[in-house]
Amino acid sequence: MFAEVAFPISNFKTFTYQIPEKLIAETHVGSRVLAPFRRQQKEGIIVNILTSSSFKGETKLINKLIDNYQIVTPELWELINWISNYYMTPLGQVAKTVFPKNLSTRYKPQKLWFVESRIDINPLQFEKLKKRAPKQYEVLKLVTTESRPLQVSLLKNFASNPLQICKSLEQDKLVKLFEKEVKPNSDHFSFSPIKKKITLDRSQEEVANLIKISLDSNIYNPYLLHGVTGSGKTEIYIESVKYCLGKGKTSIILLPEISLTPQIAGRFRSVFGDRVALWHSKLNQQQRSWTWKEICKGTFKVVIGARSAIFSPLKDLGLVVIDEEQEASFRQDSPSPRYHARDVALMRARLSKAVIILASATPSLESYYNRQKNKLKYLHLPNRFGGAKQPKVHLVDMLKEQEETGKFGQVISGFLQNKIEERLNSNEQVILLQNRRGFSPTIKCGDCGEIAMCPNCNVTFSYHRKTNNLLCHFCGFSRLNEKQSCTECGSKSLLYFGAGTQKVQALLEETFPEASIERLDMDTTTSGINITKILAAFNNGEIDILLGTQMIAKGLDFPNATLVGIINADQGLYLPDFRSGERVFQLIYQASGRSGRHQKPGEVVIQTYSPDNPVIRCAAELDMDKYYEIALREREELDYPPFSWLSKIEIADKNYKRVSKLASTISRKIIGGYSGLEILGPAPCYIEKLRGYYRFQIIFKSQKVIDPNGKKLHSFIKTNFHGFNKNYSNSQSRISIHFDPLSLI
Ligand code: ADP
Ligand code: ZN
Ligand code: ZN
Repeated sequence: MFAEVAFPISNFKTFTYQIPEKLIAETHVGSRVLAPFRRQQKEGIIVNILTSSSFKGETKLINKLIDNYQIVTPELWELINWISNYYMTPLGQVAKTVFPKNLSTRYKPQKLWFVESRIDINPLQFEKLKKRAPKQYEVLKLVTTESRPLQVSLLKNFASNPLQICKSLEQDKLVKLFEKEVKPNSDHFSFSPIKKKITLDRSQEEVANLIKISLDSNIYNPYLLHGVTGSGKTEIYIESVKYCLGKGKTSIILLPEISLTPQIAGRFRSVFGDRVALWHSKLNQQQRSWTWKEICKGTFKVVIGARSAIFSPLKDLGLVVIDEEQEASFRQDSPSPRYHARDVALMRARLSKAVIILASATPSLESYYNRQKNKLKYLHLPNRFGGAKQPKVHLVDMLKEQEETGKFGQVISGFLQNKIEERLNSNEQVILLQNRRGFSPTIKCGDCGEIAMCPNCNVTFSYHRKTNNLLCHFCGFSRLNEKQSCTECGSKSLLYFGAGTQKVQALLEETFPEASIERLDMDTTTSGINITKILAAFNNGEIDILLGTQMIAKGLDFPNATLVGIINADQGLYLPDFRSGERVFQLIYQASGRSGRHQKPGEVVIQTYSPDNPVIRCAAELDMDKYYEIALREREELDYPPFSWLSKIEIADKNYKRVSKLASTISRKIIGGYSGLEILGPAPCYIEKLRGYYRFQIIFKSQKVIDPNGKKLHSFIKTNFHGFNKNYSNSQSRISIHFDPLSLI
């Protein structure tokens, strides 16, 4: 028997080896092996098993198997190949994205010191210690009152080096000290599990039954679950996962945003306990590696996580759920593979003969359209659970407000302020959305008019007051605002325009000094643990006003939150991108959905300068169908998705002339084409300079009436651009291919 082995080297090319007789029984596709490779023993993965070898030379023997389990399932390997092919990315690069980094260095669980009391302590010794070494005495007192061993590092409150203290105590035979391996713990990314009695109502039951029948049939079945906010979609996921587990099958739940993890993880853990693994960006390498292996071994049957959780090596996958399937965060743009986790998930479900549920209160326009075309089966929860009503929405015209009050550039209108006051007086909670972090998004010199821009990108700096710096939200470059003067003319009269979350927070603190206010955005949650802390505190009623970016706009369920305020609904509305309207609509609708989800009725205040814009108007009416029909008509007129397939080639270089020339050369050399294909550009991108690189793009649109499954466009791109980096690229330019890009700016 022979095995094809892939090594995690740059191209992941495969090599053929012979399997030693004694290993044949335990060797599978997905097993990790040690094999001779270029005069050393290297770790690789078996990707195929063959009875004969077509390789002409001598085949070497596999040295040994590394684990007694498979680190990748055959379907997952097939998926990796599909991604490599579809997104035109070398296999090695895909594999790098899929596998946790140190999987091949064999991660060992961390060891920690623990201290435990001894039963035979002489009280006299105790007293002596009090005088001789008070710190040791304090620690000993604590240790003796605990019935379980204590983790030494947690005794930091007593001394800067608690281990030294414990060692001294051990020398005097007062405690026992030992090292123990500990599992990486991700409990702090989960609310504590609270058991809740759930009896599905009629429409929930109907939906759940259809899913169960589908799970019984063991065939690929894609669904769109369209449930209004608060209709109990999460309970449907739980019920379906339960059914799946009963059949010995596993499930993946994809979440778009780390801020959704704690609450959903808590709800899942209350039902499924330790069988649930969490997979998200705040896990460190060790946690990743450990989680991956435990999934392989079958410890975890359910994985909840961000887009890369779709690569979990679960066996017998029965169900994939994509919560808030419209979210752009499911798309990875950099590094390559530039993939969309929703499309990858659909393919994985197909390969695993699994059920897949795309769920949302505001599906993507693509899924909405695919349901009309019967490509997705439709499941509908039209009402909120338990008779809860949709919130009452008020639209505040900020221009009128400005005229009436004479105050220019108000951030919080008088109307919203009154509403907040009302809720605070009745001990209810408020959620405020301002989808921009920092203090001010624009800094302008009052004398010479210079606007502070990032030197690497073609975008304005944002002012962050807490750290007193100017920060670029695209590349992360920052400059201390020490002198607080214009870099052009030195003038001190800088004007800070617009409002980010920090400014809103400052205003709120001034206006409502008694209220407890917290801000949740990227700046307050770098540690990850803070997300759980802030959300749990809001859940427990310790916070009155929760202010945040889109992180707080979706998925969250707080019974006492009865007012949602959207500070600037127009943000992003006028971006020159075909999806900007859809995005703004979804954000407003989702944020509104956080209000009055349970028995207490809710309200929403939307502040806008564009009250007649159809996006804003339909969002304020919470009328999804109306807006989606308008948006579909626009897309159809302009041949944008879902009426076409889209690809783009991006060319970037630090030198403007060089990139502009290269873009024209590439464009001139394009061959082939067909009716129904439209080529736009080359043209500079909307954000022309990013991270020091000037960017040009060529866009390809292929009409679905001509190219129903996108194969024409794919093969056109392949003919023109496969391996083309070699042909065109000088060492300074970067060329990248994007299939189904979400954004064209
Ligand atoms: P969605 O995900 O659709 O926005 P959720 O699943 O968060 O809605 O449900 C909203 C609230 O209603 C949650 O607190 C949930 O636990 C509760 N809920 C939904 N269905 C039921 C049910 N059948 N029994 C009890 N509570 C339910
Ligand atoms: Zn100036
Ligand atoms: Zn920048």
